[in-house]
Amino acid sequence: MGISSIWVYGEVVDGSLSTMTTEMLAKARTLADDVSVVLGGEASDALAAEAGAHGASTIQATGDLGQGLQGVHVAAAIAGAVDAGSGPAAVLAGTTYDGRDVAARLSVALDAPVITNVVDLEVDGDALVGTEPVFGGTTNVKTRFTGGKAQIALVRPKSFVAEETGGGAAAVTALATQDVGAAGAAQIVDRFVEESDGPKLDEAGFVVSGGRGLGDAEKFAMVEEMASLVGGAAGASRAIVDAGWVPYSSQVGQTGKVVKPDVYLALGISGATQHLVGMKGSKHIIAINKDEEAPIFGVADLGIVGDVHNVVPKLIEALKARA
Ligand SMILES: Cc1cc2nc3c(=O)[nH]c(=O)nc-3n(C[C@H](O)[C@H](O)[C@H](O)COP(=O)(O)OP(=O)(O)OC[C@H]3O[C@@H](n4cnc5c(N)ncnc54)[C@H](O)[C@@H]3O)c2cc1C
Repeated sequence: MGISSIWVYGEVVDGSLSTMTTEMLAKARTLADDVSVVLGGEASDALAAEAGAHGASTIQATGDLGQGLQGVHVAAAIAGAVDAGSGPAAVLAGTTYDGRDVAARLSVALDAPVITNVVDLEVDGDALVGTEPVFGGTTNVKTRFTGGKAQIALVRPKSFVAEETGGGAAAVTALATQDVGAAGAAQIVDRFVEESDGPKLDEAGFVVSGGRGLGDAEKFAMVEEMASLVGGAAGASRAIVDAGWVPYSSQVGQTGKVVKPDVYLALGISGATQHLVGMKGSKHIIAINKDEEAPIFGVADLGIVGDVHNVVPKLIEALKARA
């Protein structure tokens, strides 16, 4: 026996399925015969084509939710389907703000457990088994669902590669919304988009990150300049986020973003396990640190033992000379 059906909570960015969603679809289609995308909102033809191309047979769409909170309505709609006997065996949501909201509300509505922070999934009999890193990513544990109305897993970004299957467009069906009582009164009244130049940190092919070894907040400009010269994004260790040098949105690591660029350049970062879990999947890692014993060199393909204040300006000069 395997898993009969998986519903993947779909998030939409600029009219397309988010990378997180297509990553989950890539895994879901290897675990179940029937994979659906659950959308809070309307499903356009473009979304149906994209979902199908990533292996979903159906999009279950709630229809327009107005300014209501996605989590409230999507969780209630999935719970309603499960209670009516038309729901899935398992639900996957991404470790995003809305994904966590959906999983938490669904867990309460169905009195079902959630496996969080999943980096891999497999099927054992008719149960889903999640792999999650513990102790700062030094060990993985496997957790198996042993029952419940639905198996709910929260998946960590960049755990799977979002490849297309070339399938035709997914069929769009209506997912009945439910009466959510007072929770329906919560409305989104405004949205703010953080301004940024260049690629997004978690999608960039080249990431240049800075740590406490930079010395002070002003020196982060060096990281940004390097990032812009290589067409990449600037990231940071938690030490300098906590120090207020850069915003939390720049943080790479266990409690920040997970990145998997082609090249990760770490400037003045020690390489604590909590930082490594956010970047060790990068294809090539380059580290510059003045301490040759720094743990970052343990994962680096190329290491420069030196002072960032000497090495980085020379790199910047060389890159500018090539431009
Ligand atoms: C629950 C928990 C979650 C956490 N989550 C995260 C997370 O998501 N991301 C994260 O990054 N951390 C996280 N941390 C913090 C983590 O443990 C480290 O404290 C942090 O990563 C250290 O940041 P750093 O490497 O910039 O600073 P430090 O550890 O202080 O290292 C600075 C490095 O710079 C080098 N250096 C100093 N001067 C120079 C110079 N002039 N030139 C070159 N090198 C120099 C030093 O040799 C040193 O290796 C977490 C911790 C906990 C407990």
